[in-house]
Formats: sequence, C-alpha cells, structure tokens
Amino acid sequence: MPGFRGTATSSDRYDNTHAKLRAAAFAALPEWSQCARCAHNGRRHLIYKWATVKPDRRGVVKSALHYDHKDSNKGYIGFSDADCNRNDGSSKGGRARARKHGPWRGQRRPPPSLPSW
Ligand SMILES: [Zn+2]
Repeated sequence: MPGFRGTATSSDRYDNTHAKLRAAAFAALPEWSQCARCAHNGRRHLIYKWATVKPDRRGVVKSALHYDHKDSNKGYIGFSDADCNRNDGSSKGGRARARKHGPWRGQRRPPPSLPSW
C-alpha cells in the first residue's frame, strides 16, 4: 500500500493474505470510485483513492479507505470509506467482538457490561 503506514496486516479473521489482497485491489482502484459500503446500503458515495484519515496521536497517517468485506465475512465487496464502514460495521461487529474477545488492545477501561441477548 503505497504511502501509508500502519495499515492493519492481520486480524482475527484474516491473516496477512488480507494485506496482500488489499494491496492488489488497491493498485487496481481508480482515483475515484463508489464507496462499497454505501452502495451496499443503497447510497451513492464517491470516495477518493488517496484520501487519508486525520493523523493519530503518533502522527501516523492511514488510508481512509477500508477494504470492506461482506457482512457474511466471506469475500470482499470492495473499498469503502473508513467512516461508512465503521458506522455500519462497528455497531454490529464491535459488540460481538467485545463479548468474545474483551476490550481492544490499548483500551484503558473495559467496555460497559452488555446485556447478553
Ligand atoms: Zn460511503
């Protein structure tokens, strides 16, 4: 991924094949494209390939695009804006993840206890 540091190279579900797949898909991405997450939710939203998110506390700039996967976790739907993906996915996935794995690394306080629905 040219120009970006700190992009996730592994996760619970994907080993570093995710990073390789993302790099390959990113190379083929046009400058402007539809946000996959918004398209998935029936909206039209153009995203810019080289958009970045605000630097974190260490000044690391990351790509604002997420290589988005299907809700079923099988395969990818394409790139989407970090905010769109987070809004959609974190509300669904974060709760499930918190129940299963506990707080994120580096998180100071444990999340509030959640009802076990
Ligand atoms: Zn979007």
